[in-house]
Amino acid sequence: LTDVKRRHAWIEIDLSALRNNVREVRKRVNSNVHILAVVKADAYGHGAVEVAREALKAGASFLAVATVEEGIQLRDAHISAPILMLSQPPVTAIELLLAYHIIPSVYEVPFALAYGECADAHGVEAPYHLAVNSGMNRIGVRYDEVGAFLMQVNFHRALKLEGIFTHFATADEPEVFDFEIQVRRFEEALAHVFQMGIDPGIVHAANSAAALRFPKVHYHMVRWGIGMYGHAPFPQAYEYANLKPVMSVHARITAVKTVPMSEGVSYGFNYRSPGSVKICTIPFGYADGLVRALSGKIDFLLNGKRVAQVGNICMDQCMFEVNMRSFATRMRLEPQVGDEVVIIGTQGEGAIALHEHTKILDTIPYELLIGFSKRAYRIFT
Ligand code: PLP
Repeated sequence: LTDVKRRHAWIEIDLSALRNNVREVRKRVNSNVHILAVVKADAYGHGAVEVAREALKAGASFLAVATVEEGIQLRDAHISAPILMLSQPPVTAIELLLAYHIIPSVYEVPFALAYGECADAHGVEAPYHLAVNSGMNRIGVRYDEVGAFLMQVNFHRALKLEGIFTHFATADEPEVFDFEIQVRRFEEALAHVFQMGIDPGIVHAANSAAALRFPKVHYHMVRWGIGMYGHAPFPQAYEYANLKPVMSVHARITAVKTVPMSEGVSYGFNYRSPGSVKICTIPFGYADGLVRALSGKIDFLLNGKRVAQVGNICMDQCMFEVNMRSFATRMRLEPQVGDEVVIIGTQGEGAIALHEHTKILDTIPYELLIGFSKRAYRIFT
């Protein structure tokens, strides 16, 4: 029995949409530019192994993770593509990096030397990508200290600089002033590396927003994250590429009751029925990732039509209202236990975009995608 046979709630991952989104960026970069598929955080909640496999088939040649465990998970699934870890783990993780061929981002001298030493002791190389802080001030060697950093580590025979990269803080903002400063600083750092006679390897900087908006920063590789999952990295992104959302969220009605006027529904009775309404329950709540602050503010789709979610979203369930007089009789719609409800996605003519939720919550798609918990079973279609 799959989980979906035990519970009337599931998340569909449309792998053909994912392949489409990889091909969309593939078309927009030169043929010699690598696509790195960002599959950290369980592929933004979509399922890292399945997404990684599909992205590689569709034209990606690198993968990126955030933690050592995420890299090991891919290797355990027999994925052999190069895996870049987007930050520098503790020194105690070095043995694992080498054993599982996970390439770290490096920016601290003691880590670099420990990594080199350990590789040397095993008689292997220690490949790394040098992270450059060009202005975001999160991680990386400051752009004007890259030369000094390399002077301290480059003598090491096992350490191998395989790439150099930076990350943009504002590639999705309409104003490009700060972005251009980061580009200039990164290129300054690059020029310095070349002046030292060092080959920096794969040069990369672009996240999804920059990959679509700024071809001049494609360099040797682009890091394709949110765009791969079909969400706009900046408001006009759909004019740049035909991105299709990969994740949709579904449930089936588990209870239907007619509630007379003025009765409360769910914890706290924040909602009271405005007249005789049908209240339907679905087994999807905030433990599954449907954020409680959305209570009473969102719609679902039933038979392709919008229905209003009402009352507080509970941990494992929530309710919606079908107004029989104004809606169902007109639409000849009688909700039934077992009917499919779409929480995010399309159904018939109807569509509920994740964007509706991000707007209400004043957040970004990343956070909500990642918030859909493992308990909500993923079906790959
Ligand atoms: N590169 C780095 C270093 C990141 O941290 C991330 C994600 O946060 C990405 C690329 C992917 O960004 P996006 O999902 O906006 O494409």
